[in-house]
Amino acid sequence: MNEKEIFEIEQKLMANVYSKRTVAIVKGLGAKVWDINGNEYIDCMSGYGVALVGHSHPKVNEAIREQIEKLIVCHGSLYNYTRSKFLKKLVEILPKGLNKVFLSNSGSEAVECAIKLARRYSGKKEIIAFVGAFHGKTFGALSATWNKKYREPFEPLVPGFKHIPYGNLEDVEKAITDNTAGILVEPIQGEGGVRIPPDDFLNGLREICDKKNVLLIMDEVQTGFGRTGKMWACEHWKVIPDIICLGKAVAGGIPMGITAANETIMESFKVGEHSTTFGGNPLACAAGFATLNVITEENLPKKAKELGDYFKARLIEIKNKHKIVREVRGLGLMIGVECKFDVYNIIMGMLKRKILILDAGRNILRFLPPLVISKEQLDKVLEELDFVLKEEENARGID
Ligand code: PMP
Repeated sequence: MNEKEIFEIEQKLMANVYSKRTVAIVKGLGAKVWDINGNEYIDCMSGYGVALVGHSHPKVNEAIREQIEKLIVCHGSLYNYTRSKFLKKLVEILPKGLNKVFLSNSGSEAVECAIKLARRYSGKKEIIAFVGAFHGKTFGALSATWNKKYREPFEPLVPGFKHIPYGNLEDVEKAITDNTAGILVEPIQGEGGVRIPPDDFLNGLREICDKKNVLLIMDEVQTGFGRTGKMWACEHWKVIPDIICLGKAVAGGIPMGITAANETIMESFKVGEHSTTFGGNPLACAAGFATLNVITEENLPKKAKELGDYFKARLIEIKNKHKIVREVRGLGLMIGVECKFDVYNIIMGMLKRKILILDAGRNILRFLPPLVISKEQLDKVLEELDFVLKEEENARGID
C-alpha cells in the first residue's frame, strides 16, 4: 500500500473526527518517527504526550514481547502476577498516601472514575471545574471539559458541573456549596493552552478543600510521569490531591488509565459499582511496569527539567526575533508558544521540514517531545521553527 492509498482508506473508513496531517507514519525509535516513504521526522507530538520514554524503547518492547508469550487477557476478578508487580511499583512512585488504584484504559476513563468516586465517597453531587479545562470527551469527562465546541452538540451533559475562572481562589470559595463533592483541576492546563496557574493557586485549592471538606481531584493525565520536570506536576507546588487521574504515558503506548486515591476514599466503591473489562490487563501492566522502571532508572523527570530549561531559554531567544510570537511558557518538556495568529500554517510548515508539533488552541504551538529527545534534536527543532516563523512573517507581510 502506498501513501495515497493509506490516506484514501482512512478518509473513507475512519470517522472524520481528527484534523489529519498528510503523513503516514510507519515506524518510530526514541524521538524519531519515519513515514512510509522513508522520511525521518523529529516527534514533538509523542502521540499527544504518550511516547514519554520514546518510541520502541527496548525495555518496554521486551516486556511486551515476554508478556505476549505468557498471557494477554486476565480479568480483574482474577489475580495476576504482572498486575500486582505493576501496582506495587506504581504506588511506590505515586504522591504519598494515594495508595489504592482503579485501572482503566484511557485518560477520560480515569476522569470518569474520579467523578463517580467523588460522588460516592462524599454523597454529594456537584463538581467544580475550570475555564479552559480539558478532561476528555466521554460524558462525565466532557461535562468537566470547558470548550463549547466539544460540549454543545452533545447536550444535555451530566448535571452538577460548573466552570469557574482558572487561577482565582475567591471564585472557588464562592462556587462551593453544601453539595460540592470535589474540585477537578489540571495542575497545568494542557489542551487549554499550556497554562501554568498563579503560584498560590494549587496550595490555595488544597486549603479550601480541607476547610470545606471537598475532595481535590487532580488530572495529571498530560502532566504526569515526569513530563513537567518532576514526577508529578503537583510536586512543583508541594500539593497532594485526594484523587489523581493518570493516563497517556504510563504504559509506553499501550492504553491505560489510572485513578488513584487513599484507601478510605477508594473503598467507598463497593463490588460491582465500577469496573471495565480491560482494566489491569496483563499486557498493559507489563508495559506499564517496564515504562515506570525506565522513567525512574533513566531519571527522566530530571532530564525533562534540564532539557526543558534549555529549550525554553532558546525559544525565548526565538520569540525575541519574531514579532508573531507573543509568549513562551511551560514546565519541563511541556511547552507552549503563544502566537498572535492562527498557528495552522506554522504546524504545516514544520511538518514540511520534518518536525511534528502540536497546537493547544487556535494560536498556541505545543511541544510534548519524548523525554529521551537529545539536545541536538531540540536544536534542530529550534532551527526549523526559526525558519518557519520567518516564512510565516514574510507571508503575512511582517518584518
Ligand atoms: N485529561 C487531560 C488533562 C488530557 O490532556 C487528556 C487528553 N488530552 C484527557 C484527560 C483525556 O485522555 P484520553 O484522550 O486518553 O481519553
